Amino acid sequence: MTAVCNPDAIIQRINQIQATLPPAVRLVAVTKKLPTEALRAAYAAGIRDFGESRVQEAIAKQADLADLKDITWHMIGRLQANKARKALEHFQWIHSVDSLKLAERLNQISEELGCRPHCCLQVKMVPDPPKSGFELEELWAELPALAQLTHLKLVGLMTIPPQGTAPEAARAIFCQARDLAEQISQSQQLQIKSLSMGMSGDYQIAIASGSTMVRLGTILFGPRPD
Ligand SMILES: *Cc1c(COP(=O)(O)O)cnc(C)c1O
Repeated sequence: MTAVCNPDAIIQRINQIQATLPPAVRLVAVTKKLPTEALRAAYAAGIRDFGESRVQEAIAKQADLADLKDITWHMIGRLQANKARKALEHFQWIHSVDSLKLAERLNQISEELGCRPHCCLQVKMVPDPPKSGFELEELWAELPALAQLTHLKLVGLMTIPPQGTAPEAARAIFCQARDLAEQISQSQQLQIKSLSMGMSGDYQIAIASGSTMVRLGTILFGPRPD
C-alpha cells in the first residue's frame, strides 16, 4: 500500500485505478483524515471530486485549497441537522440524505441560500442497525413527500453493504439498489440517475452491478491515519 502523503505514489496509484474504471463511472476521492498535501496530489492526478465525511474538516481543507477553483465537494458522512446549513454552503453533493426530516431541512435551507444541491438518498437494502439510512418501506412511503422538495436535485441513491458482507452478498445488495433506482424512476416521483456505490473493498463488484459513482479512499491513498 502506498504511504499517505507521498505525492508521487498517490498520483501513480490514482492513474492506475482511474485507468481501470469505465469512463462513465465518476471517481470520488475520499480524503477524510488526510492532509491537504494528499488532496493536492490527487488534484494533480486529475481528481476533481473529493469526498469528506465531516463538515468542519472539509471547510478547513477548502480554505487551504482555495486556489483550486474547479473542485466538486461531496459530503459522504452522516449529516447532523445542525450542520445542514454549513454543509450546503460548502458541498455541491450530499450523498448521505438519510431521512425525510433531513431532506426537508436541506430543502428549506437550500431555498434560503438559493442553491440546488445534488443529493443521494442513503438506503439500507438490508437491515443494518449501526447505519443510518432509509429502510425500503419507509422510502416508498415517503417518496411522495421527497418528490415535493424542489430545491434539492434528488438524483441518486447511495448504499453501503453492512460491515463484513461477503462479495456475493454485496453484489446482490448493489443489484437490488440498481433495481430500486429503476423502480423509483418508473414511478415518476423522482428520476434516479446516479448510484453512489462502492468503496475500496467492493468497488469492482459495485461497478459490475451498475454503480455510477465510486467513493475510494484507502486504495488511492493508503491506510488513513487515526
Ligand atoms: C471512508 C468512506 C469511504 C472510503 O472508504 P475506503 O474503504 O477507504 O475506500 C467511502 N464512503 C464512505 C461513506 C466513507 O465513510
